[in-house]
Amino acid sequence: MKNYSTETKCVQAGYRPTNGEPRQVPIIQSTTFKYDTSEDMGKLFDLEASGYFYTRLQNPTNDYVAAKIAALEGGAAGMLTSSGQAANFFSLFNICETGSHIVSSSSIYGGTFNLISVTMKKMGIDATFVSPDCTEEELNAAFRENTRAVFGETIANPALTVLDIEKFAKAAHAHGVPLIVDNTFPTPVNCRPIEWGADIVTHSTTKYMDGHGTAVGGAIVDSGKFDWMAEKDKFPGLTTPDDSYHGIVYAEKFGLEGAFITKATSQLMRDLGSIQSPQNAFYLNLGLESLHVRMPRHVENGQAVAEFLSAHPKVSKVSFSGLKTDPYYELAQKYLPKGGCGVVSFEVEGGRKAAEAFMGRLKLCAIETHVADARSCCLNPATSTHRQMTDEQLAAAGIPAGLIRISCGLEAKEDLIADLAQALG
Ligand SMILES: *Cc1c(COP(=O)(O)O)cnc(C)c1O
Repeated sequence: MKNYSTETKCVQAGYRPTNGEPRQVPIIQSTTFKYDTSEDMGKLFDLEASGYFYTRLQNPTNDYVAAKIAALEGGAAGMLTSSGQAANFFSLFNICETGSHIVSSSSIYGGTFNLISVTMKKMGIDATFVSPDCTEEELNAAFRENTRAVFGETIANPALTVLDIEKFAKAAHAHGVPLIVDNTFPTPVNCRPIEWGADIVTHSTTKYMDGHGTAVGGAIVDSGKFDWMAEKDKFPGLTTPDDSYHGIVYAEKFGLEGAFITKATSQLMRDLGSIQSPQNAFYLNLGLESLHVRMPRHVENGQAVAEFLSAHPKVSKVSFSGLKTDPYYELAQKYLPKGGCGVVSFEVEGGRKAAEAFMGRLKLCAIETHVADARSCCLNPATSTHRQMTDEQLAAAGIPAGLIRISCGLEAKEDLIADLAQALG
């Protein structure tokens, strides 16, 4: 499917049935797989043959859908995880261990911020957070001798900052480590970070990819471009023998294109068990089949709502990278020429109280801890998703207490604007 357009890949990449096979991706609702001889099965356990033995590690339905996402991102290999959180954790933990250090954009999803700053810290993995707007000098100064990865979000949730992917990739590569980009908000329909130098791309497929609020899930795509062997000492997990697999060296046995995902599957999935259920992978695939049709409509509605809000006297600030006045407009023109997503952030006059009153008056737009599905919804991050963060951390992440995030769904933009107009009063 390599030479087909994104639109065609959304519909047909991944599962390619042959003569007489089911037209739709089959749901392989089976925990295990049958073999004729112990020897056949043994080869799978030794990673000598590829195949399925237990769904905690791999399942064909998941692999069809992961292959579609990998094709969409222009990557070499992909895997599904049970959630976006698991995807980000696996992508980092596959190359970090106790004593490692991560450089991360400070403007990231609250769950990922907690994962890196609290939970991974407990595992002995340190992090330095930098503003996505930092200079190259500031970015380079954040690296240490034990830095093993750089992390950022193409469009940050909920701050809506746009990552200068080339700047972050350049710094990562100058220090011999990969750039991991969470591309949840734009999806590969609007941005493919690998084309700008990212090495690994992650997703919360729960958002636009599923697109209907039906299934929590995540995905990891490896570009297959990062040369682990060239930085042998930094990535022992990939470049030295794995005792739990009879001394296999992933980077040698599976090469540039296979090492990262094979290790994450055969080691992390085996031990940590965060597989997506095949049923959820099936729902995800249904969402992917229309992703290229839905994304432009989300962007169109987001643009219309952002323009309406920025002209309203009771709204003090609007963030949406499609607005000419937005500080990220230029970067968005470069990385997101077709638009970013349908999420708009804004502040109503009167702070937290006014924000809560406004949200209570909305009729179409529901209050939800969610974004990026067909139905519009809104949220005040300071009192929900980001309530663990101190005011200083909120400010550093670009999330003032009175901020409202609205995710524009697929309704008529006129109806969405009328709802916002009546709620603003
Ligand atoms: C929602 C989200 C996550 C976490 O994904 P889950 O599927 O909820 O675990 C990670 N990154 C971004 C950018 C998100 O929006």
